[in-house]
Amino acid sequence: MHLFERLGDEYEQLVVCHDAPSGLRAIVAIHSTALGPSLGGTRFYPYSSESDAVEDVLRLARGMTYKSAAAGLDLGGGKAVIIGNPATVKTEELIRVYGRFVDSLGGRYITAEDVGTTQADMDLIFRETRYVTGVSRSLGGSGDPSAATAYGVWWAMKAALETMDGSGELAGRRVVVSGVGKVGTNLLRHLVEDRAHVTVADVDDAAVNRMTREFGVVAVPVDEAHKLECDILSPCALGATLNEKTIPELRCRAVVGSANNQLATHQDGDRLADLGIVYVPDFVANAGGVINIAEELVGYHRARAYANVAGIYQTTRRVVAAAGEQGTTPAVAAERLAEQRIAAVGGVPRLRTFESAGHQRLARRLS
Ligand code: NAD
Repeated sequence: MHLFERLGDEYEQLVVCHDAPSGLRAIVAIHSTALGPSLGGTRFYPYSSESDAVEDVLRLARGMTYKSAAAGLDLGGGKAVIIGNPATVKTEELIRVYGRFVDSLGGRYITAEDVGTTQADMDLIFRETRYVTGVSRSLGGSGDPSAATAYGVWWAMKAALETMDGSGELAGRRVVVSGVGKVGTNLLRHLVEDRAHVTVADVDDAAVNRMTREFGVVAVPVDEAHKLECDILSPCALGATLNEKTIPELRCRAVVGSANNQLATHQDGDRLADLGIVYVPDFVANAGGVINIAEELVGYHRARAYANVAGIYQTTRRVVAAAGEQGTTPAVAAERLAEQRIAAVGGVPRLRTFESAGHQRLARRLS
């Protein structure tokens, strides 16, 4: 990989964290601090090569810039990866050393939970740095963000329905939730409460059985879920599930889910639009988690955080309307919205630090 070429003029910083005694091999990518300190989770994953890890962290950091900008947050985009299998190499020592590396960035990067890291890990990191979110409630944090993410997806669904039918009512609507992990389960609660007709799918049979038992929903095999006729398909598991092969098989009217990077390629946004399927961009629909943890930085208040998450309804409506006006896809319209905000609000300043103008409030809170 030609590293500097890959970073181009887009990325601010790429930090390699290495500690032989603990075995820590981590990479932090800071895509942009134009709107504020960069925030994004730490992914702990057994990457097959270092260049795969670099590519992943760069892609994810950029995604966080767009997510926070479109959500109206005063945060930039960053992300971190730790290379290794968390089930075998994660130790207290390794996580705490990692926390010290995060601390050494002086608040230019604030971390959070992601695939392979847990709330318990965030609590350990909190013992080394204040630049961490999603710590336990008992430590003054907001805890697991999944419920907030699900709440945001639910609002995005209502906005999509409102756009299509003039009513955001979920009662009687057919919704397929693919992936009933932390977000999917919380989402299911809202949908069932609203009396939607829900079908679920998951590779984990135990998870499916829990859902059918607890909520009385119907289950289908994972490779059938996207083919069902329904109002909303909600991908809540992996990325890239909307692709050249699956899109022609869809029989939904809208796609609104929590999974990151749902479109395999940019052209898949066009493919969905050509079929008349309303696609709520993943980074708009799933911003509830980051909106919720951002509240931690100013003193967590659940009611205020959830009121902000509900703002995803307006953002979704704005993005879908803009796509119609601009003759483009919602994914492109949402990216434009984020870019316009970064240009207008972020202006020129680069390499901004956590303590710089506009963030005194956060700095006071965290000191
Ligand atoms: P999770 O690991 O708790 O749940 C994922 C579920 O998907 C699991 O039950 C797993 O068995 C299932 N799954 C795996 N492969 C599948 C497949 N091929 N088909 C169907 N199901 C499959 O994760 P989560 O926290 O619920 O997150 C779900 C998605 O939302 C992820 O893409 C995540 O990156 C994204 N997301 C989560 C949050 C959050 O707050 N947790 C925030 C933003 C985005």
